[in-house]
Amino acid sequence: MISAPVTQTKRYTDLRSFLQRRFGCRVHKIALDAHFTCPNLDGTKAVGGCIFCHQGSGHSTVGTLSISEQLQKGKAYLRRRHKAKKFLAYFQRYTNTYAPVEDLRRLYDEALAVEDVVGLVVGTRPDCVPDPILALLQEYAQRTYVSIEYGLQSIHDQTLARVNRAHGFSEFLDAVHRTAGRGIHTCVHVMLGLPGETKADMLATARAIARLPLDGIKIHLTYVLKHTVLGDMYLNEQYRPMEMMEYVERVCDFLDLLPPSMVIHRLTGDPPRDLLLAPQWARHKWQVLNAIQAALDRRDSFQGRKWVPDSSQ
Ligand code: SF4
Repeated sequence: MISAPVTQTKRYTDLRSFLQRRFGCRVHKIALDAHFTCPNLDGTKAVGGCIFCHQGSGHSTVGTLSISEQLQKGKAYLRRRHKAKKFLAYFQRYTNTYAPVEDLRRLYDEALAVEDVVGLVVGTRPDCVPDPILALLQEYAQRTYVSIEYGLQSIHDQTLARVNRAHGFSEFLDAVHRTAGRGIHTCVHVMLGLPGETKADMLATARAIARLPLDGIKIHLTYVLKHTVLGDMYLNEQYRPMEMMEYVERVCDFLDLLPPSMVIHRLTGDPPRDLLLAPQWARHKWQVLNAIQAALDRRDSFQGRKWVPDSSQ
């Protein structure tokens, strides 16, 4: 039986420590809005977007600020608040590869030209990374840190259809395999508590992800925001969000199944307070994180405890 390393305080490979090892200092992400849209909102793939989406992840508070202006503003804030030294330009809002290659190059160049910006993080959909865009990111990855974040949420096509993702698991697999070997840190987003999903469904997602060439994962809680389809479902009692301890146990189960080397970028969501309908406990991120840590300790769970290496690789 594998035992948790005695020096391991967190029982999982956390992003902060990973970045500290990579860069030798504290590195903070600065979330950017490059004024993209999304093929799931503009009609190219579908309209209306994912049922939980409030027009892209993150709020735009940047108005017409350019990428470099957003970075300067973020740097000043993080330096004041956290004494941060180095930064990653996080292209977060909407679908950040949804533009011609030359437009993307201009935006990424602008970000990397800002002093103390040491890398790029690009959030996107798996159906929005044609090979020329991956080749562009690979080019940057040869000289700096580059991470791509693919929104998947679940491996189950029925669930993806239910939440109107407008892509399936096969498109995610295709994107991940085309990204592998390019020197790009590849991260997947999953959501626990999606409508209709059982414990077995969520853990099947963990097992499938554990076999793929992925470097990192963000585990999100499905929370309900005002002015969304999921919000209407919740108000009509067609959707029930997870209870906090149910979520905490599922996260522990999920971590047990992941390979020890996979970097855990997130263990819960961080909902916008003014838009949150439910669950109310999601407002207290640190309570949730502390409860996860306590449950990992109580269960003697840790990342990789039940991971089964893929012998076919
Ligand atoms: S893919 Fe992202 S931005 Fe597009 S609709 Fe879904 S959550 Fe919103």
